[in-house]
Amino acid sequence: MDLAQKIQELKKEKKAVILAHNYQRPEVQDIADYTGDSIELSRKAMMEKDAELIVFCAVDFMAESAAVLNPQKKVLLPSTGARCPMAQMLTVDEIKHAKKQYPKAPVVLYVNTLASCKAEADICCTSANAVEVVNSLNADTVLFGPDSNLADYVAEKTRKNIIPIPQNGFCPTHLLFQPEDVQALKIEHPNATVIVHPECSHEMRKVADFIGSTSKMCKYAKESTAKEFIVGTENGIIHRLQKENPGKKFYVSYNGAVCPNMKLTTLDRVYASLKEEKTIVEVPAAVAEKARTSLERMFQVK
Ligand code: SF4
Repeated sequence: MDLAQKIQELKKEKKAVILAHNYQRPEVQDIADYTGDSIELSRKAMMEKDAELIVFCAVDFMAESAAVLNPQKKVLLPSTGARCPMAQMLTVDEIKHAKKQYPKAPVVLYVNTLASCKAEADICCTSANAVEVVNSLNADTVLFGPDSNLADYVAEKTRKNIIPIPQNGFCPTHLLFQPEDVQALKIEHPNATVIVHPECSHEMRKVADFIGSTSKMCKYAKESTAKEFIVGTENGIIHRLQKENPGKKFYVSYNGAVCPNMKLTTLDRVYASLKEEKTIVEVPAAVAEKARTSLERMFQVK
């Protein structure tokens, strides 16, 4: 029996559900029950009523959100070192300071934040619904963090004054994408459609035909009549795009755009995590309650 089969056996025995983010290694995506973005996965976890264990193959803040939304289930993060550097860029103190400076401005936090920060937010958002969330607020000025590129994108798409907190939060992986790489690929593949994540720079977004979250990119690629795509997001997404669209071709705009934290989860670690039921993600109840309110408000936005 190979490792993937052993994981499936153990999963059944333990009544576990395995969730993998779109940026996970291909072999980890392949053993998962569901692959998706962080909130799609947390919602799946909420729907798996019979599951006792959730193995969340991703980074810290995503597993935390799953724990916050599923307080009655045990959530496991197979690799404890898998921390999102962007989520670490915002602190509770910075949010409190910004609130003092802009007392009337609501705080919108990207889900790429720690639960302690979400507890300070009025509402959360994902890259898929950030524009709708901000437009749903009855305020002209909005505090938005921690990604300044997503803040910039939201400012472009709404008529609101978006104040980024912190000033320059960013995803180190998405910052690696450069428009020159797209232009070079366009010479080889002139008919390719360029799809880019809003965590990319303004310059990168300017050369895109479509800007969207990973879930929106997957939907767009499925529905588009284009046969070739240049992709501006972490390279793990190529596996899912290719699997769902066997007749189409996908080229990552920059091969080096790999999130090292996402890649810390291996099949060995998933197996060990299931077997030993480690590492359990715990969020203090008072923090979880407030963070859940911010997440649930987001779910109510159409
Ligand atoms: S890709 Fe960027 S935002 Fe996503 S987990 Fe990695 S560092 Fe964080």
